[in-house]
Amino acid sequence: MSIDYPEKFVAELDGKYEGWVLEELVSEKEIRTRVKELGREITNHYKDKTPILIAVLNGSFIFIADLIREMDIECEVDFIKLSSYMNETKSSGTVRLVKDISANITDRDVIVIEDIVDSGLTIKFLKNRMEGSGPTSVAFVTLLHKEEVSKIDFDLDYVGFKIPNKFVVGYGLDLDQKYRKLPAIYTVKESDQNGRS
Ligand code: 5GP
Repeated sequence: MSIDYPEKFVAELDGKYEGWVLEELVSEKEIRTRVKELGREITNHYKDKTPILIAVLNGSFIFIADLIREMDIECEVDFIKLSSYMNETKSSGTVRLVKDISANITDRDVIVIEDIVDSGLTIKFLKNRMEGSGPTSVAFVTLLHKEEVSKIDFDLDYVGFKIPNKFVVGYGLDLDQKYRKLPAIYTVKESDQNGRS
């Protein structure tokens, strides 16, 4: 076992999710390293500009808080809230605007900050919403990308980690509004009869 990477964290859930387990997929250290790299890349790209970062609530609140502190340029922050996942681990298939941005993004360099791109429905909705307001540029950052399942016909500018098509929680992402404060990214699945995933 290496000193830097502790043995894989596995935890059994209780209550409503009794019989389900969390298993670490991306460690806290891997996230920290990658967020620093993303911060550097964005800084280099937007040198001498003041972009506006638009974070997608609720899942990206921890990611944006860490990312912005790894960026060495001045920037503004705003938030948008959409709903595509109704509950638990299943998508509703439609995207609804729950809270729009407050800032005027016309003639601005916009950077959309997503926690995860799954089917791609949400990011497509965001692209239309942003481009409809006449910004100078729009870039997309996502911490996680389920590349195998997402159906988008444009490039994501910055991707933290490509992950398999599994439901994940932690570092801002929830299961039924819980587990957002976990420091790393974990898969959630039902354990088999032996109690092991
Ligand atoms: P999409 O529209 O790309 O299918 O999904 C985007 C939104 O669904 C994300 O912003 C996130 O809120 C939610 N989502 C998608 N996959 C996951 C996942 O594995 N875990 C969690 N907690 N939320 C997810």
